[in-house]
Amino acid sequence: MSPTDPPRVERGPVALVKIADDIFSAVARALELCEGFQHLPAGARVLVKPNLVGLPTKMETPPYGVVTSTLVLEGLIRALKDAGAGQITVGDGGLVNQDAGLATDLTMDILGYPALAQRYDLTLADLNQGPFRQVETGGLKLKIAEPALEQDFVISLPTLKTHNQTRVSLSLKNMKGCLHVRSKAACHDAEGRLSHHVALQALALYPDLALIDGLYSLALGPAHTGRAQRSDLLIAARDALDADLVGAAVLGADLPEVEHLAEVARALGRELTAPPTVGGPLVEDVRLDLDWDWPWLDPYTPAAFKKYNVKGFILPKYDHTLCTGCSFIYNPLMIMGIAACAAHDPGGVEVLTGKAMAPTGQAKATVLLGNCMIKSRRGDQRIQQEVLVKGCPPRLKDLEQGLQKAGMKADLNTYWSFASKMGQHYSEDHGFRPSDFQPLEQ
Ligand code: SF4
Repeated sequence: MSPTDPPRVERGPVALVKIADDIFSAVARALELCEGFQHLPAGARVLVKPNLVGLPTKMETPPYGVVTSTLVLEGLIRALKDAGAGQITVGDGGLVNQDAGLATDLTMDILGYPALAQRYDLTLADLNQGPFRQVETGGLKLKIAEPALEQDFVISLPTLKTHNQTRVSLSLKNMKGCLHVRSKAACHDAEGRLSHHVALQALALYPDLALIDGLYSLALGPAHTGRAQRSDLLIAARDALDADLVGAAVLGADLPEVEHLAEVARALGRELTAPPTVGGPLVEDVRLDLDWDWPWLDPYTPAAFKKYNVKGFILPKYDHTLCTGCSFIYNPLMIMGIAACAAHDPGGVEVLTGKAMAPTGQAKATVLLGNCMIKSRRGDQRIQQEVLVKGCPPRLKDLEQGLQKAGMKADLNTYWSFASKMGQHYSEDHGFRPSDFQPLEQ
């Protein structure tokens, strides 16, 4: 494909299937209904790209709706084998964070991928390791992991989730995991053109088949800080835009507000409407209407501050320039800040994140979080006391020390204690089954 060519899109039926008891049969049915393997060459080398954004090994984070469930992946692999696929690679490039014990291979271990690889003769690939090839798409230069470019057939296998920056994260955005970490960060540029860049990335990395794993869905995504529910749905289509339009509609999105899907539809000369589905339920029957955006009371005050009576902490809302690396430490920042400032008013500490925020000129101390913000605002005349928290992303210990230097009684242990309880509200009585995230027992 040359940089300006739109992808060749092979549209077909769109399956929307309710999972009853047997996950494997439901996956097989969805793939059959959407005629998913109609263009799968015999013996094809296949890349399956699940969503492995990450499960930190240093805390008990729930996987529900955050990462692809292992049983849906196993169902897809069985179906691929039955359809005559050749070598199958399962790969993603998830978040890396040393403090939290986050890396793609560690997440694969938690999800039982090594056993799956042995059972089905799979190749497992951490796409963060490359090698990479540079591709230009609409003027944007991206480094893409070669396994995503060199296979005969690529399948996107995301979860059914909302996203606090792009409204939804489905099969097209899922392919962003195939980028080099610096290309991922570059999508979150200082001008806030994240959705535009995701659309360009999607056009460069258009999969041959999309299977959206809605065994669980996630509000306030994309990470483990969101709220999951069991949904028992699968959406499958040969055309990823079709699958995502149905997925976005099920999540309750007004389609024009999903800017990257709107832009991909325009690029392909298509209507921005969810196509009809086959398989059983209608979109209206299973619509979830999930919250996706964390509320702020005003531009500087998260709604949670009122609940915990937080005083003296100025926290502008994260914007589209904040990339996933720093997004991950936003929750530790909130938890440490809330715990510290509910007990003791530090007298006006602001924390600036991403690449574009400006100091308010009202703060006693200003924490510049991350190398991007330091580059953007270091030495700004509106800052009284400047505290730099370096790193890309910064280490949690450095964040704790930076908050302390600014006058907050921040303690990283408050975050670890919070994080250790994150999974507590997900019980088997409410349909949350850890076994969905392991290969089928034999
Ligand atoms: S400093 Fe933070 S926002 Fe900037 S590229 Fe690094 S992780 Fe992303």
